[in-house]
Amino acid sequence: MGGNEYIVEMRSIVKDFGGVRAVDHVDLFVRKGEVHGLVGENGAGKSTLMKILGGVYSDYEGEIFIDGVKVRIRSPKDAIAAGIAVIHQELNLVPQLSVAENIFLGREPTKGIFVDFAKMFNMAKELLSPFDPSIDPRARISELSVGKQQLVEIARALSLKARVIVMDEPTSALTEAEVEKLFDVIRRLKATGTTIIYITHKLREVFTITDRVTVMRDGKVVGTVRTADVDHRTLARMMVGRDIEAVEKGAKRLGNIILRVRNLSVISREAYGKYILSNINFAVRSGEVVGIFGLMGAGRTELLMTLFGSPPGIVKGEIEIGGKQVRIRSPIEAIRHGIGLVTEDRKASGLILMMAAGHNATLPILPSLSVMQFIHRRREREVIKWLWERLQIVPPNPEMPAQNLSGGNQQKVVLAKWLAMRPKLLLLDEPTRGVDVGARAEIHKLIRQMAEDGTGVIFASSELPEVLTLADRILVMHSGQLVHELRADEATEEEVMFYASGAHTFEQHDSEATN
Ligand code: ADP
Ligand code: MG
Repeated sequence: MGGNEYIVEMRSIVKDFGGVRAVDHVDLFVRKGEVHGLVGENGAGKSTLMKILGGVYSDYEGEIFIDGVKVRIRSPKDAIAAGIAVIHQELNLVPQLSVAENIFLGREPTKGIFVDFAKMFNMAKELLSPFDPSIDPRARISELSVGKQQLVEIARALSLKARVIVMDEPTSALTEAEVEKLFDVIRRLKATGTTIIYITHKLREVFTITDRVTVMRDGKVVGTVRTADVDHRTLARMMVGRDIEAVEKGAKRLGNIILRVRNLSVISREAYGKYILSNINFAVRSGEVVGIFGLMGAGRTELLMTLFGSPPGIVKGEIEIGGKQVRIRSPIEAIRHGIGLVTEDRKASGLILMMAAGHNATLPILPSLSVMQFIHRRREREVIKWLWERLQIVPPNPEMPAQNLSGGNQQKVVLAKWLAMRPKLLLLDEPTRGVDVGARAEIHKLIRQMAEDGTGVIFASSELPEVLTLADRILVMHSGQLVHELRADEATEEEVMFYASGAHTFEQHDSEATN
């Protein structure tokens, strides 16, 4: 014992759920004292594999060796006996009990026939203090932030003398600061010889904290590599099995900051004092696609309208375009500053339905096509021809009134307007609402092409998958505030939804209560 290189060996593990093979002949070799990343897209089988190691599922095929000794893990108890603690995605604490009671549940120190509370609180304090001395062992779990609850789980694992701690997507509900803290804790655990298996699908975390990484896809292991030997792109390709757009998005060069918003607020005129938008700060670079996600009433449309010079109230704060502070008092001024807007309701303001689709497209650039008030028809036709080819609008007849086109093609015409104008900043509100799937992909491609040509894009969407696939960066809004910002290639639906739903505000209250 002890001479083995690997603390955990899982060999040819298979686990089915009904007809679905969640884990398919998986081999996993984890070295002693390393932080071993387990990565893969949602549904890859990561959690299931670790639930097998943690004794949640006993009906698996294959063999498990712990420190060279073959074990059959049939229950969480067996896992604990083998020195394995799993901190599941859904934490496993009793909210009504104290921190100390959760750590020592079922193993409380006793004095005679009674629980020795004083001793238990002291033991808990001792376990927790290296990680967070501010956690009161007497506090109820329900009063703690998720970050602190995780530390309690880690303390419990250590009290169980776990040699291997599995953390399943531990950062999905953590703030940036809590993530940093968790990484410190992991480094400390590693320094004392504890082995960590760290599940994530966020590449940044893989590169920050892991020594080696095993990639899973569709229930199988794609490979195990030293983290230092791979780059972002390689790992992403291993995860999804092809080059993904997200990687190309990340690799793209961004230009200068074209829009910066400082402490932007909009105050209602009707209900005076009510903030429709409050204290919004962000910047957008040329070539960047920024997605704004929020639920109903979050303020997405209001933000776009404000940037386009038609705010729904009184504007406070600063807007800079290309480094210069500007006041945008009307849509005409917005267009002069190089800002375009595609509204949610194409029919209301995006298109003149009776007019030929081609003329619709060239409306914003008419000034540049005009010579002394007369529109240069030949040049207009050339522009339209170029646009129609580029956008593949169907049917390819610019003379057709816009109203006769399908929703998706109408939206392309709206985009064509701005493509012709080459705005510095393009604002899109729900760019693919009511558009069929095929046209949706084409519109996404078009938006990305415009970004590649140097336009900065901000789009608002209530559809999370659209935000995740189209954006480089995501701004999450909740009740008029910008509550979270994250890179799309590192974002999960859970994380975005957590902030969009305002769940973080409850959590802040929780941690305030205990601090
Ligand atoms: P990951 O953690 O990598 O996101 P999971 O291990 O949770 O993946 O899931 C792997 C596959 O197994 C998925 O197809 C999932 O739908 C399926 N699966 C997971 N848990 C169950 C379950 N309890 N019942 C049925 N299917 C499940
Ligand atoms: Mg999982």
